[in-house]
Amino acid sequence: MDLKIYNTLSRKKEKFNSISKNHVGMYVCGPTVYGEPHLGHARPAIVFDVIFRYFTHQGLKTRYVRNITDVGHLENDSDDGEDKISKKARSEKLEPMEVAHFYTKKYHDCLKKLNCLTPSIEPRASGHIIEQIEMIERIIQNGYAYIVNGSVYMNVIKYNKDHNYGILSGRKIEDNIDGTRELESQSEKKHSADFALWKKASDRHIMKWNSPWSLGFPGWHIECSAMSKKYLGNHFDIHGGGLDLIFPHHEAEICQSFAADKCKPANYWIHNNLITIDGQKMGKSLNNFINLEEFFTGKHEKINRAYHPMTIRFFILQAHYRGTLDFSNNALAAAEKGYIKLMATIETLDRLVPSKKSSVNIINLEKNCCDAMNDDFNTPILIAHLFDGVKIINSIKKGTLKINSEDLKKLQSIFKTFIIEILGLKPLKEKTNSKEKINEIMKLILELRSNAKKSQDWKSADLIREKLKKAGIEIKDNRDGTEWEIN
Ligand code: ZN
Repeated sequence: MDLKIYNTLSRKKEKFNSISKNHVGMYVCGPTVYGEPHLGHARPAIVFDVIFRYFTHQGLKTRYVRNITDVGHLENDSDDGEDKISKKARSEKLEPMEVAHFYTKKYHDCLKKLNCLTPSIEPRASGHIIEQIEMIERIIQNGYAYIVNGSVYMNVIKYNKDHNYGILSGRKIEDNIDGTRELESQSEKKHSADFALWKKASDRHIMKWNSPWSLGFPGWHIECSAMSKKYLGNHFDIHGGGLDLIFPHHEAEICQSFAADKCKPANYWIHNNLITIDGQKMGKSLNNFINLEEFFTGKHEKINRAYHPMTIRFFILQAHYRGTLDFSNNALAAAEKGYIKLMATIETLDRLVPSKKSSVNIINLEKNCCDAMNDDFNTPILIAHLFDGVKIINSIKKGTLKINSEDLKKLQSIFKTFIIEILGLKPLKEKTNSKEKINEIMKLILELRSNAKKSQDWKSADLIREKLKKAGIEIKDNRDGTEWEIN
């Protein structure tokens, strides 16, 4: 496999070599489940789904771990303020786990509609408190954390003397001081760049667990470190997530792994870029915070109609994952047009009649598609090559190009492999089912007619033709076989 991946750690494309032959371990930061799933959730889910699909297609046994954050993620991604899930639970008079369960289900439902495969393991932060406590204990033993009033903080200054805090984000400790607001419990920290590993819970805090230090709850960053370690080991292949997670979340994860177990967690760090809507950042205050369900139903004042989940998926894959992506009605409508054209070609392909000789070159098309995926999962280039294929297929349909049966089979396989298996696009269901059934029935009828002709039963052969014609289906015999068309 000749795959190159852009590694945020080195800021360049690197050849991908997995740690263990034929196996890939990939950890991706999942959602904090306290609100409706939106585009910001859809992009990483789809990007890493395609990566997961590609590895699997290449025959690599891939363990894809994507967590659910159901505790410890505080407002403004800070070490203070209220837990996002607790806050929602309080305002809606629900148990925090009711909130987490409700939105986890919604997240799963939306991802299913977007045709994302289920990850191999989907661990929840609240189910791994023991692993988190054990990891914090190792960090304390190694001298990189300190305890204040029942809370535990990472000593970033001390860590930075032995390692490099900023190795992923490129930030310097001094920048972190400037960028950090003075917060309520800042005084507990020795340095403003330090971050919480464990927080003592206040009386009003709902979710809390016993620990050696206090009745409290884990910091947000330690969750992913503990869960990735548990399911993928101390050192694994890929860690992914959105660009906004590079700092502080992923920087902190690297720091925790070195501090606890003296090793870097992942070899390759993959980050997808963010999404804008009509050129603006998504935000509740801008009233452009369109959730996925609103896209699917068209019920939001910023969108003029409903969009099929496959249109959203196709639109996301039309951009490279490291590029920005701007949603607008026009862009979505254009994507939908392209998507319908591409999917219609698969149907055309199933009905093409092969000639004896080929005047097309399929080998180049296949190579180009593979090269695109091997170049840092370049799905827009892959899609462009598939549209080159669409031109070829339409020319064959018109009769200006010829294809033999071997090449036709190959072309069908290229289209199905890349569009359905790897990009994970699927035809609109109702249509496909009935189309597929009609194709099968027509195959059978034409076979029966061909048998009738072979045994010189012209009466039956003509009867089949006449009856089909009455039903609006025309069949044409030609040198290469029989074609059919719905009038
Ligand atoms: Zn994470």
